[in-house]
Amino acid sequence: MIFPLIISNKYYIVIIMNYAGPTDDVTLLRTKCAQNKLKLTPQRIAIYEALRGAMDHPSADRIYRRIKKKYPSLSLDTVNRTLLTFARIGLTKTVEGYGEPKRFDSNMRPHHHFRCLGCGCIDDIHSKSFDNVAVSSKLKKQYAVQEKKVVLEGFCKKCQGKNKKICQTIRSKT
Ligand SMILES: [Zn+2]
Ligand SMILES: [Zn+2]
Repeated sequence: MIFPLIISNKYYIVIIMNYAGPTDDVTLLRTKCAQNKLKLTPQRIAIYEALRGAMDHPSADRIYRRIKKKYPSLSLDTVNRTLLTFARIGLTKTVEGYGEPKRFDSNMRPHHHFRCLGCGCIDDIHSKSFDNVAVSSKLKKQYAVQEKKVVLEGFCKKCQGKNKKICQTIRSKT
């Protein structure tokens, strides 16, 4: 959608927005809720929309903080339970993590992750060679592998500056 904003006859600013109508936004949520006999409540829509627009693999707490102003009656517990329901019905995935609050992924296509040990940011990585990582026949006998995901851990660009010494040591070892 393009909104021209005319300032004078010489200058004008054009604001380009990617705006998908509200009905498009919740189509998948509506379908999944119907399939799983869940009600399409305003809370579920709000949480789903906050998750959909998030590229940072947010925790329930982060989603809660983003929408609590607009939906003051919503509790963190509801957000948490709703996100877990979304994960169960295939609207989000939980990101692997150990001993930390669960993080949720809005990207449902197969991809890999980079996790920063400094600030905790998680970035999506798309890599053909990671997709093609082979699972040995020995492992296949032991486990029914459903999905292969590579997780890289280290320091993001921002944190590399703050942890210069640690990063140099890691680089010299690898
Ligand atoms: Zn970082
Ligand atoms: Zn992801």
